[in-house]
Amino acid sequence: MSYSTKLLDSVKKKSIGESEFHQALTELLPTLEPVLNEHPEYIKAKILDRLVEPERQIIFRVPWVDDSGDVQVNRGFRVQYNSALGPYKGGIRFHPSVSLSIMKFLAFEQTFKNALTGLPLGGAKGGADFDPKGKSDREVMAFCQSFVNELYRHIGADRDVPAGDIGVGTREVGYMYGQYKRLTGVHEGAFTGKGVPYGGSLGRTEATGFGAVYMLENMLAANNEDFRGKRVVISGSGNVAIYAAIKAAELGATIVTLSDSCGYISDPAGIDIDSVKEIKEVRRGRIKEYLEFRKDAEYFEGGLVWSVPCDIALPCATQNELLEDGAKALVENGCKYVAEGANMPTSIEAAHILQAGGVFFAPGKATNAGGVAVSALEMSQNSMRLSWSFEDVDAKLRDIMKNIFDSCYETSGQYGKKGDLIAGANVAGFKKVALAMIMQGTV
Ligand code: NDP
Repeated sequence: MSYSTKLLDSVKKKSIGESEFHQALTELLPTLEPVLNEHPEYIKAKILDRLVEPERQIIFRVPWVDDSGDVQVNRGFRVQYNSALGPYKGGIRFHPSVSLSIMKFLAFEQTFKNALTGLPLGGAKGGADFDPKGKSDREVMAFCQSFVNELYRHIGADRDVPAGDIGVGTREVGYMYGQYKRLTGVHEGAFTGKGVPYGGSLGRTEATGFGAVYMLENMLAANNEDFRGKRVVISGSGNVAIYAAIKAAELGATIVTLSDSCGYISDPAGIDIDSVKEIKEVRRGRIKEYLEFRKDAEYFEGGLVWSVPCDIALPCATQNELLEDGAKALVENGCKYVAEGANMPTSIEAAHILQAGGVFFAPGKATNAGGVAVSALEMSQNSMRLSWSFEDVDAKLRDIMKNIFDSCYETSGQYGKKGDLIAGANVAGFKKVALAMIMQGTV
């Protein structure tokens, strides 16, 4: 039995029922075997045994009062996974599905993603099983304030810096940051994704979606191709999906789908993103409302976008949304590129089907690293009391995404099959974290 299989078995026994966490480990650990064979010092220092255990997991009660005057209670989490490379960094997710397993898988992935950016960031993730959908602004504010009443003592500009994720955008970060400031009396970069008027970075809202498209730009260029004339299928219609759609369209692609948890829209002439922004960012409505704007579009209740023919697919909604059937449909319909805007949207089996079918596949920890990269730029601007232009931030993001692609692509060639970006991203991220852990001793 290999070292990674043995380790995986022991983790599963200790964390029964944490299926998403097990999935993230199962995807990553076997790809590290060639590095472990080359570096026995990693095994001796028990780097992987240490890496499968988060440094700290905080679970707390979040009581708040709804608009009817009733007390509600949610469960909050912050998993501070690994601080070898820098202060903990990772988003906050508000969604009814949030559990310790989801927090741990996201924080684990974040550790390697942050390493890939080349910036000094550790990995963390947090959130709550709170559903902001259908809540009033006052209810969302009350929840965010109560959440931070506990979280504030664990975070700070040099300790742990949360940001947004599913269900957490500029509004929620604003409420959380306001409460942090009230409790600590300190105006510092303790959150990223803040509003621009009080310390947010220009370009942060766009960063994850734009970054995913820059990753694809590099993948296309490796095959002497570009976005012009390509048909792109995107799932989700939140922050990542919208800005990926905007950038891909700007580079000449036609975006044919977007979705939410109720269904998807298909518009063969190309989705009108301004209408989607109106629905999602202003009204906070459902994607089917798009039919009010474009009569030729179609809406498929409960459907998934993967059966729509395309050249490029960008899963940008949530974990495990692209499974075996979806992967088969993409391959059969001639899709050539898949880049994960979301975290772990593709199951392990589906990713294998895509790679075996000749699809050039980029995992989330590389593709969606643009968000955290620009968050790190926001932290730098806050520390320096400076504010960079949108163009400066965007140019830095494009460079960082190129470096991430180059590092994953080259590493994949050194440790397996050139172009296997899953292995490339895992190994490139791991080596940075492992070296920093060894240099800092067994702590
Ligand atoms: P948003 O909340 O802005 O949007 C999420 C989108 O995904 C919505 O369209 C939502 O639909 C859909 N969705 C969420 N959960 C489900 C589900 N269980 N089933 C089907 N659809 C679902 O989140 P983001 O765009 O910020 O995040 C999307 C993904 O990108 C996540 O995996 C996140 O971890 C990842 N990511 C985000 C970063 C960021 O900077 N925001 C950075 C790096 C990664 P509905 O409204 O119906 O729920």
